[in-house]
Amino acid sequence: MAKNTPSMAKNMIRRSLLAVIDPYPSKAEIDLLWQYFQSSCAYCGVEIPRESRTGHMDHVVSSALGGSNSIYNHVLSCSRCNGDEKREESWQSFLTRKATTQTLLTERHSRISQWLAQLPAPTPKAQEIQSQVDAIISNALNNFDAAVKELRVLRADGTGT
Ligand SMILES: [Zn+2]
Repeated sequence: MAKNTPSMAKNMIRRSLLAVIDPYPSKAEIDLLWQYFQSSCAYCGVEIPRESRTGHMDHVVSSALGGSNSIYNHVLSCSRCNGDEKREESWQSFLTRKATTQTLLTERHSRISQWLAQLPAPTPKAQEIQSQVDAIISNALNNFDAAVKELRVLRADGTGT
């Protein structure tokens, strides 16, 4: 039942435009992530055979909340933790629920925070252009909304003729 609704398309447009400025991780960076997390879920520790294609790169701070596409804003996650369970919860509180012992919690917490700590601070240039980036994207989305509206009017006019 996958339909391409305007709101899905709008999210995709927003993410695609953002990725022009803030690229998705490269293949080499993804390899590094798998190595660093030793092919295991950063949250629950389950092993994820890479060839199973069930591993996910979990956006730690979601892009809706301004999180970067950098590899250092991602952790390796099993599909259960990534899709069904974590949602918009903070990684710290999610990890607390997933780690069954204090030792595991401490270990995984430090592994994740050391990885995230490598996220570079935004450059002055990036901060400088941020408002322009926001304006350009918001303009594109407004144009999209306007197109949807015009098409809906046409559809309504055509009804019953
Ligand atoms: Zn997991």
